Amino acid sequence: MNLLERARIRPARDNWIRVPWYRYHRGGAMTVGRTIWFTRKWYDAAGYGDGSPLATWNWLAHLAHETGHLPQAERFGRHILGKARYIMAFAAQYAQRALMLRSDPHDGAPLEFEADHGRWVLLQLVGDRPLAHPLLHALHMRDAQAVRAQCHQCASRIADLSQRYAEHKRKVLLHT
Ligand SMILES: [Zn+2]
Repeated sequence: MNLLERARIRPARDNWIRVPWYRYHRGGAMTVGRTIWFTRKWYDAAGYGDGSPLATWNWLAHLAHETGHLPQAERFGRHILGKARYIMAFAAQYAQRALMLRSDPHDGAPLEFEADHGRWVLLQLVGDRPLAHPLLHALHMRDAQAVRAQCHQCASRIADLSQRYAEHKRKVLLHT
């Protein structure tokens, strides 16, 4: 089983963790170990839980980022000490960025850059009108076969975009 299959998604209200940098996270989610905690807004019919195509897109884009933290969490270890070390590494990166007066401590952190790889590729792939992309349509209709077909069809473009992320990262770091 791979990391994606093992991952769990949970509402953050059930979580023991209340981290001070939560608000920095786009819309509010955090990955600890193999669990991705989403704040209440994501389940709320008045928030991202209204079942609309836009809500599907918001979930997909955000998951594309959070799943980027899964291999990191695995690297740090899933036992309690590993989780603590992982959270401390984040805290240290945020503190460092904040001290250097960078505009966004969350997005500038190296672990965040690494985690954002998949989301960046997804954004390039779907372009300016994500809701018009057949991948989004298939996902929203819960058509697993069509989703797989789309992934297969886009595979070489995804691989190409994935290679360009390193270049994108270099440029952004030069300008911060
Ligand atoms: Zn993140």
